[in-house]
Amino acid sequence: MQAVGSVDELLRLLHIDVAEPGMRHFNRDFPLRVPRGFVARMEAGNINDPLLRQVLPVMQEDHRHSDFLPDPLHEADAMPVPGLLHKYRGRALLTLTGACAIHCRYCFRRHFPYAAANPLSGKLSRALGYLAAHSEISELILSGGDPLTLPDSRLEAITRELAGIAHLRTLRLHTRLPIVLPERVDGRLLAWLGEQPQRVVMVVHCNHPNEIDTSVVTALRQLTQTGALLLNQSVLLKGVNDEADTLVRLSEALLAAGVLPYYLHQLDRVQGATHFEVSDSDARALMDSVHAALPGYLVPRLVRELPDFPGKYPLWP
Ligand SMILES: *Cc1c(COP(=O)(O)O)cnc(C)c1O
Ligand code: SF4
Repeated sequence: MQAVGSVDELLRLLHIDVAEPGMRHFNRDFPLRVPRGFVARMEAGNINDPLLRQVLPVMQEDHRHSDFLPDPLHEADAMPVPGLLHKYRGRALLTLTGACAIHCRYCFRRHFPYAAANPLSGKLSRALGYLAAHSEISELILSGGDPLTLPDSRLEAITRELAGIAHLRTLRLHTRLPIVLPERVDGRLLAWLGEQPQRVVMVVHCNHPNEIDTSVVTALRQLTQTGALLLNQSVLLKGVNDEADTLVRLSEALLAAGVLPYYLHQLDRVQGATHFEVSDSDARALMDSVHAALPGYLVPRLVRELPDFPGKYPLWP
């Protein structure tokens, strides 16, 4: 099933007839892309729908601010070999692909040189060599883009290689696909996850409780049944999930599907995303309200990623 890739079609599907020039202009740099099942979870007629806001290009993307940069995390500096980020102790992150099933307007990778950073263009063996030679790396994170956009045969081939590196004890996947395209979670993917010799951790990416419908709950529960630990990370986004009630309902919906909240990220300051930013003081006040309403295990950690800090920088608690 093809994703929606045109602003006009998206607005038509939602019965919205406003159109501003930014919708088409910014669509050229970082084109709209959203799976049809995700569109079906948006409210028709509502231009401020929290799911729609995450994907619709708008004129505010034109707003420039000197702190909002094309590559805010200087990722290019932390790559010992192309595609492999080794910034944090014990963990390395492999960007397997630049492709995503959805294009999130706040994404810090929206200006990222994927083609150059993609180890699958013949360079995977260099990344594997680095991992094998660094026995202090016990956890490998498969990321992207979204690693589950790769075909199963490719994923199977990569993990066959990883199984030979004995010091890798944890395999982590960072993926938004079980949320935005739950039909990706099919029998072959579940079998593959269940067969891995390492502990498997899957960090999904869900920002709003409306993203979780029954098809998503089914997919997430099936994933937990493979033995994988399921966690969620969200990005704090103005006009999407910056109210305590929304974050409380998100944690509760995740728990019902077998997923625990992990991180709530302050936005990476990428060019084009100023309109999504929530101030640190507002974010901390929000966390106080969320904490007052939920058991501790349903409260995510509020963090910001800093280019030179060897981990996510904690903002709350
Ligand atoms: C976020 C990230 C990790 C994982 O950090 P955790 O705090 O373990 O979730 C690892 N490597 C890089 C480069 C990262 O950006
Ligand atoms: S990397 Fe994640 S946040 Fe960025 S566009 Fe892909 S799914 Fe969205």
